[in-house]
Formats: sequence, C-alpha cells, structure tokens
Amino acid sequence: MNCDQSTNSLLSVQEAVDKIAMALRPITELEQCDLLDARGRTLATDIYSDLEVPPADNSAMDGYAFKHSDLASGKALKIIGKSFAGTPFTGLVNDGECVRIMTGAIVPDGADTVEMQENVSVDGGLASINVISTKGNAIRLAGEDIAKGSKVLKAGQVIRAIDIGILASLGIEHVPVYRKPKVAVLSTGDELTPPGTRLEVGQIYDSNRYAIIAMLKQANVDVIDLGLIKDDIEQIKAAFSQADKLADLVISSGGVSVGEADYTGQILKEMGNINFWKLAIKPGKPLAFGQLKRAYFFGLPGNPVSAVVTLQQIALPALSQMSGAKDTQTQLLSATASETFFKHPGRLDYQRAIFWQEQGKLFVRPTGPQGSGMLSSVLHANCYAVLERERGKVEAGENVNIQIIYA
Ligand code: AMP
Ligand code: MG
Repeated sequence: MNCDQSTNSLLSVQEAVDKIAMALRPITELEQCDLLDARGRTLATDIYSDLEVPPADNSAMDGYAFKHSDLASGKALKIIGKSFAGTPFTGLVNDGECVRIMTGAIVPDGADTVEMQENVSVDGGLASINVISTKGNAIRLAGEDIAKGSKVLKAGQVIRAIDIGILASLGIEHVPVYRKPKVAVLSTGDELTPPGTRLEVGQIYDSNRYAIIAMLKQANVDVIDLGLIKDDIEQIKAAFSQADKLADLVISSGGVSVGEADYTGQILKEMGNINFWKLAIKPGKPLAFGQLKRAYFFGLPGNPVSAVVTLQQIALPALSQMSGAKDTQTQLLSATASETFFKHPGRLDYQRAIFWQEQGKLFVRPTGPQGSGMLSSVLHANCYAVLERERGKVEAGENVNIQIIYA
C-alpha cells in the first residue's frame, strides 16, 4: 500500500538516522577508567590477554589426582600428599601413587587424571578409584578458557558487568575508555511546573525532563539538568547558549512544532545550524537536529510519548555513536499479533505493546489507546510493536516485529 499525500513528504526515520550519523563526530578523548567504574563505558582499544586463563592445569573437583595408566591394575593408590588451591603439592606423582586434590588446585607433575572423591574409597593411606574415567578427567587445562594473546574485548564495545569480571581475571586494573558525553537537558513550556510544586490552573507537570534524564543516566552519560524554561525568547536564548558552553549535546523537549509559542525553532535558526524535520514516525513527527555554536542539538517533540520514543529511537543511538560505540543496532524479534493493531500507512509506528510467549511462540497485543500524550500507553508496555511505514491495519494472526523495552 502507498503512503498518502500528506505523509509522502515526511522524512523517513532511516534517512534521519543516516543524516545524523553522517553529521556526528564521535568523542575521541580517552581516559583510563578503574575497572569497577567501567560498566557502560565504551572501550577505546582492543583488549588482548597477557596470560593463559587458567594459568595452570588444575582440578575441576575435590578428589584424587593420579596417573591414568594405574587404573588398569585396579590396585589401591598410595596417598602421598595434598594439593590445595593456592598451595600446590610440589612433588612428583609416580606409578601407584595419588595426591588428594581440591577444586582449583594445580594438578601435580606426573598426574594426568582426577577422580572426584565420591568415586573414591579411602582406607588408611590408600585410595581405591571405583570408576574408570578417561585420561584427563576433571582437569581444567591451562589456557582452555582464554588463551594467551587472544583478543578478549573489542574497541567500541560497551563494557558489561561480565566483561569486568573477565578483565579482572586477566589481572587488568584500568581500561582505556572514551570520555563520557556531557548532555544538557531542558524542558520548554509556560504550562510546565516541576514535580513537588502545586499545580495551578492550566499547568501540567514537567515529565519529559525526568524521563529523559533517567534514560540518559542509564545510557551512562554525564547529565546537566538545565531545568524548565518559559516560552520566552530571551530565556530560551540564554538557556541554549549556556547549554552550548557546558555540553557536547543538548536535548530539549517541546516548542519544535508550529504553535504560536513554539519559539525554539526561530531561536535555533539564529543560533546554529539546525534542521527541522517532519519525520515519518509515530508517535513523533517534529524533530530538530543540528549543531549550536559547538554542541549538537536535539529538539524533541513535547508530547511525552513522542519525546520518549524519539529519544529512544533516534537520540540515544546517536549518543552511543558519539560515545564511540561501534554497534548501535537495535534487535527486533518476530511475534504474532493476537489482536488488531490500528494503523494508517504513512509513518513508522512504535505502538506500545505487550508480548508474551506461549508454546514456544511470541505473541503481541497493543497496550490500549495509543495517544502520543498518553504516558499510560507506555506504563504496561514491555515492547514496541514496530509497524512499518507502508503498512496499514494489522489483523490478528499477522507477523509483527517487536522491540523489547528494557529501560
Ligand atoms: P509543544 O511541542 O511545546 O507544543 O508541546 C506539545 C504537548 O506536549 C503539549 O500538550 C505540552 O503541554 C506537552 N509537553 C511539552 N513539554 C512537556 C514536558 N516537559 N512534560 C510534559 N508534557 C509536555
Ligand atoms: Mg510548548
């Protein structure tokens, strides 16, 4: 189905994302980051292992270490010592001998096999091995986990908690990461008042700044909260020039549509090189992107769901590109619609939805009314149903791509 006239001229989300990707210069300044502060930071260099992990052959069990060739005789083996994790047995295991060994302890010279203690009967100083396992049983070989010289982590990857464990296992204490982007956030609108104040007639609470800041914190950037700005030319100008001085990226919400109090556009045109797009996205549509004197700038729509969706789909991927991250692709899964999704062709639609699994298949249904001002549509959502631009109404039984919401 084709897009109708009124949506034909809208810029596709992919075109906007590509234009943004072309315009953004990633941060190049590096800093050394303590391992425990590195989660969520973008790694600036490849990390290679300087050692074998584990560093030596060691036991995977509490048991006995011996020569595999001794099993054939069926004779009890003489226990000649103990090997503990951290305190190895230093002697040599000869024919007919064994060593009591604990998990993680180095396998003594001469031994090539370990049997767990549950399969061993001990009588005085002798151990009878009651099962015949293969040579090398219950031994973790040096370097079997990570070989010396192998590439463990890649430049441009965002460091996860598990990576920190791996870096620690390699003895690495600091890692080179890109500097965190500084992001200034502000809301514009005469009707807005912060949570904690009394709501006067005509006012609503400023929710965008809070959602945006919370999402940015999760994205591991330094947030500068510039508060709430009235629809007043001088105040907006002052706020934007302050933001430009402090931040690498400025994110504002509201004032980018064409209402009489939407001054943001007019001011930004004077202050920098900003594009005002009408995007083929729902919720969303008006979006400003460009550069002030030095900082990049996103002007998100004021409607709360539009602000959140454009932040997640457009601004956050751009920010992770700025942070030096290489892979900013979002994962889509395929699910079966269990109900109708109402839609007209013309805009890429991020409907708030609930997915679940039943007998190994994913199903999805909308959360309910999808108004762009209705934060309640997001409240119970665990995913977005990503409905393609050209697509019309989706009937129950059709396949729908979904994007899981983690934040
Ligand atoms: P605007 O883009 O400024 O015309 O705003 C569009 C709609 O979003 C209006 O209903 C505004 O009241 C609402 N809105 C704008 N900014 C915020 C905000 N920070 N928090 C909650 N609602 C907002
Ligand atoms: Mg406004």
